[in-house]
Amino acid sequence: MIDVLVVGGGPAGLSTAINCALAGLSVNVAEPRTGPIDKACGEGLMPSAVTRLAAIGVRPDGHPLRGIRYLDSRHRADAPFRRGPGLGVRRTTLHAGLAARATELAIPVLPVRVTDFTQHSSGVIAAGIEARYLVAADGLHSALRKACALDPTPARHPRFGLRRHYHLAPWSDLVEVYWASESEAYVTPVADDLVGVAVLGGAQGDFESRLAAFPALRERLAGAAPASDVRGAGPLRQDVRRRVLGRVLFVGDASGYLDALTGEGIGVALAQATVLADCLAAGRASDYERAWQRVSRRAWILTSGLLWSRHQALLAPRIVPAAQRLPNFFTSIVNEAAKA
Ligand SMILES: Cc1cc2nc3c(=O)[nH]c(=O)nc-3n(C[C@H](O)[C@H](O)[C@H](O)COP(=O)(O)OP(=O)(O)OC[C@H]3O[C@@H](n4cnc5c(N)ncnc54)[C@H](O)[C@@H]3O)c2cc1C
Repeated sequence: MIDVLVVGGGPAGLSTAINCALAGLSVNVAEPRTGPIDKACGEGLMPSAVTRLAAIGVRPDGHPLRGIRYLDSRHRADAPFRRGPGLGVRRTTLHAGLAARATELAIPVLPVRVTDFTQHSSGVIAAGIEARYLVAADGLHSALRKACALDPTPARHPRFGLRRHYHLAPWSDLVEVYWASESEAYVTPVADDLVGVAVLGGAQGDFESRLAAFPALRERLAGAAPASDVRGAGPLRQDVRRRVLGRVLFVGDASGYLDALTGEGIGVALAQATVLADCLAAGRASDYERAWQRVSRRAWILTSGLLWSRHQALLAPRIVPAAQRLPNFFTSIVNEAAKA
């Protein structure tokens, strides 16, 4: 019997496996997709995410990010990161870095999809593998969460994200977040000749029609060749009731997710992976729920506050003007999110 079977080889799953191996646990990962894995993502790593990756020996190439900029048609506010830069990193580059570190630590990655399991008093069996613990890191629409009857009720305002890359030299080393009445678009520089554009909002429209809400951004992108296909994800919000079910533990998007608006999903997943491995190494799986709350709470509060304002007809148009008028407050909020 191995110690841990991690289901899902995204950032949450691979970083959990790496943390477990570094803590001396035997670990396998089940991930059906091969090659550097791509995903709909804004690809901005907050400074804390860069630090957490370095702590487990992963240093991906990317474009340094100096902070966050909010813009609407008439206002603009910049919030520099106070504790070192973040990093814009292509998902394929991030995955390759995490996978290389897993290989270095001799962690087997098995090409299997896992959708159910059986649990007994001393272990879990899934895909023919017996492990003391099973970690579900199978993403936003986790099959294992469904198997555990932990799927949340659908969100009141379901939101979706679409992203595409363009061959274009970044015009800023800030992540730019453009606000329109019903949607947001954000631009992350990921290399010297490549920017990623993610559009967030309701279910209506394809990528191009959604971009029409951001004329200034469309002007920036005019004539630039697309460098990737459009990828999408959603509904984004997943309110999960609990993270521990006996010997099965949830991490990353599978453990609950709010929205991509504040861009700290990967950083939070990396933090959850660290505390999860600590709990398993100490033989105290049941402590993970509290540890999860501790490392996820800050981002959850900030993102839900911003989302709430976003859905208030009177408040929403005032978000960017307020950020411009109160630069210190805006910078503090962004840096709180950056710590998440
Ligand atoms: C539009 C958008 C923009 C975003 N922008 C940012 C950003 O700028 N910065 C940021 O930090 N975060 C951002 N996020 C959030 C971030 O992408 C996620 O939080 C992050 O990918 C979570 O990692 P994960 O490993 O939990 O899930 P995933 O990355 O989804 O990985 C899950 C893995 O599980 C595998 N899997 C699925 N089912 C099974 C199964 N049954 N068996 C085995 N394996 C399985 C999948 O193949 C996949 O590799 C954004 C999200 C969206 C949608």
